[in-house]
Amino acid sequence: MGEVLVGGLPQFKFFMEYGPDEGRKVTPGGSGTESNVHKLPISENMAGVSMRLNPGGLRELHWHATAAEWGYVVRGRVRVTAINLEGHWEAADCDEGDVFFFPRGWGHSIQGLGPDEAHFILVFDNGSFSEFGTFSASDWIGHTPPQVLGTNFGVPSETFAKFPKSEVWIVPGPVPPPLPTGTGNPHPLRFVYRMSAMEPQQFPGGTLKLVTVNEFPMSSTMCGALMTIQPGSLRELHWHPGSDEWQYVIKGRIRVGLFGSGGRMRIEELGWGDSGYIPSGYGHYIESIGDEDAQVLFGFNSGTHQSISASEWFGRNSTQLLATNFGVPESVIEKLVLGNQFVRRGTKT
Ligand code: MN
Ligand code: MN
Repeated sequence: MGEVLVGGLPQFKFFMEYGPDEGRKVTPGGSGTESNVHKLPISENMAGVSMRLNPGGLRELHWHATAAEWGYVVRGRVRVTAINLEGHWEAADCDEGDVFFFPRGWGHSIQGLGPDEAHFILVFDNGSFSEFGTFSASDWIGHTPPQVLGTNFGVPSETFAKFPKSEVWIVPGPVPPPLPTGTGNPHPLRFVYRMSAMEPQQFPGGTLKLVTVNEFPMSSTMCGALMTIQPGSLRELHWHPGSDEWQYVIKGRIRVGLFGSGGRMRIEELGWGDSGYIPSGYGHYIESIGDEDAQVLFGFNSGTHQSISASEWFGRNSTQLLATNFGVPESVIEKLVLGNQFVRRGTKT
């Protein structure tokens, strides 16, 4: 599939809830799909995964050499475990609406806790990331000589005869018992954040839950947000000077306009299961165009969230400057409602 150019910018959306025929990896324990630079060329610096785990299904112990992982639980409950090089380790349960973060290189796992299927979105700060090429425990053990394993784990080498010979990735299993309290040696910066308990910020046209390094100190290289936009309302024209933006539509329909300088503009419509990508520094806006509130998940490859709103920017300049800039009378400029409202109320047309 070649690059589609409309108005000089390449496609910036990719439908992630595709089926097995199109590359969904399905196992008895769960399934996963991914979006990365190989599927969506514009997404050079970030990638995402949509994963589902059956009750007890375990995304096995693994790590990523090249990316940190920021996760959001869309539905259901999961148990995550993580360890770092300083001997901090922890197992923690995440409810619907919670987020977790594994810094690059940390060993981790994710398990479905039931009673229903768990669905979560993972965001990575590397466009080349692939969920189907991670450093997995089973793959490593399966490719290490049994004699070495025997010495390493202090048992006869035959012990490993029945271990998997290659990566299991996601395995079915029993739902684990409730977590005992007081176990582990948690890092002082916990790797789960209760976003579900957070009060959303209210704006004229929608709401926002923003989780940056300030709320969630572990997540020092990535941050994320959950936004609702009422039908017809608008996430204002803005740009992010310090990070790329990765999007996933949980519900509703949105129309995203991407401005890439030099007369380049591209507008795409995204619905449930679509991911979107906004390169760092590119101007953009989001309209909610469906009949229900749009709910959009955002991931950014920076621990802080920096955004510059066009309406605030214009409002910090004089009426005369703006009149000169746009070649219209000052009386026209004076009518503009300037100042950042983040999500502006609008009516569906
Ligand atoms: Mn992972
Ligand atoms: Mn944005």
